[in-house]
Amino acid sequence: MKMRNMGKLGISVSAFGVGCMRFPMTVVDGVQVVDESVSTPAIRYAIDHGVNYMDTAYVYSGQKNEMALGHALRDGYREKVYIATKLPAWKCNAPEDMERILNEQLEQLETDYIDFYLLHSLTKSNWEKFKSFGALEFLTKAKAEGKIRYACFSFHDSYELFEEILNAYDWDMCQIQFNFMDINNQAGLKGLQLCGEKNIPVVIMEGLLGGKLAKAPDNVQALYDAYPVKRSPVEWAFRWLCNFPQVATVLSGVQNMEMTKDNLEIFDRCEVGCMTEEEEKLIENVREAYLSRSKIGCTGCKYCMPCPNGVDIPKVFDIWNNLSLYGQRLAGNDRYKYHIDQGDAADKCVECGLCEAACPQHLAIIENLKTAHSEMV
Ligand code: SF4
Ligand code: SF4
Repeated sequence: MKMRNMGKLGISVSAFGVGCMRFPMTVVDGVQVVDESVSTPAIRYAIDHGVNYMDTAYVYSGQKNEMALGHALRDGYREKVYIATKLPAWKCNAPEDMERILNEQLEQLETDYIDFYLLHSLTKSNWEKFKSFGALEFLTKAKAEGKIRYACFSFHDSYELFEEILNAYDWDMCQIQFNFMDINNQAGLKGLQLCGEKNIPVVIMEGLLGGKLAKAPDNVQALYDAYPVKRSPVEWAFRWLCNFPQVATVLSGVQNMEMTKDNLEIFDRCEVGCMTEEEEKLIENVREAYLSRSKIGCTGCKYCMPCPNGVDIPKVFDIWNNLSLYGQRLAGNDRYKYHIDQGDAADKCVECGLCEAACPQHLAIIENLKTAHSEMV
């Protein structure tokens, strides 16, 4: 297994970080739990083959994921790995809940300390809540007490917020959504580079964009097929990520032994500097090929917002584009239906025209909202 440096921490981790959240569930004594007949052998196999980074969270698998990982790491495996787990703001109703949840996590993971402890999924609202609860002071205290080794956060919001958070504390690591389609989304390439300047190691999640990049549509597959070296879409996506020196480890959510073995092989072929100029060009073309499937050139800038009638215009276009880009028809439709129920879908548009006057891309928003709605309901 290729090992990679974790910036200022002075430790090294495996290029492949096992994402534990996707292991199958089963029912034991009427209770839904992780199927440990699948998770334990896969986790131990990965560790036996050089993986030393395990990612879980309090909320994964209906709050049963940490327990399954704790069981898998018995028999001397705990000492061979770094455990990363996360504190969810949405499960904290009062400041004292942070301590309670951390203690519960230590118990579930059957360990005295957690290596990487992340404030989970920081968005504007989660960040504000954590700040009001004194989460930064809590992290400092937990470190001093030896309950956690490194204070970290995972992130899902705009670059501006990412910069604010990164500058608000002496973070040991951050985890961001990043892949070749998200270079300008969320923390993005700019966020990755900022971490590099600060020597803060970055853990990558959503390297396959929730699996969307694992299965290439025809026009993308044709580009991969035309390249002289044959690699799966999954390998191309991970290879592109591993090329960045700022990336410490790339999480890949495995579901079984087969996927674990597949990841071990792929990550053994990926390292900093592995992408040739020709390969970089290929991925640029792949990105263009995906984007050519877009329905509308909405940049998500939000200048059209707020809509006086409550339509979340960029969200509608984002779902519509995603549906077309990655062909995830059912998932996209479900997501859209959720917004219809929320009351911020395109059917709330009364054609006042305010948004069109504000759009720097001069998009025909009203007509496109109508088309998007008719295609997604
Ligand atoms: S035209 Fe429709 S979407 Fe645009 S601001 Fe008016 S109501 Fe909202
Ligand atoms: S202003 Fe135009 S480009 Fe920006 S989010 Fe609204 S529709 Fe999209």
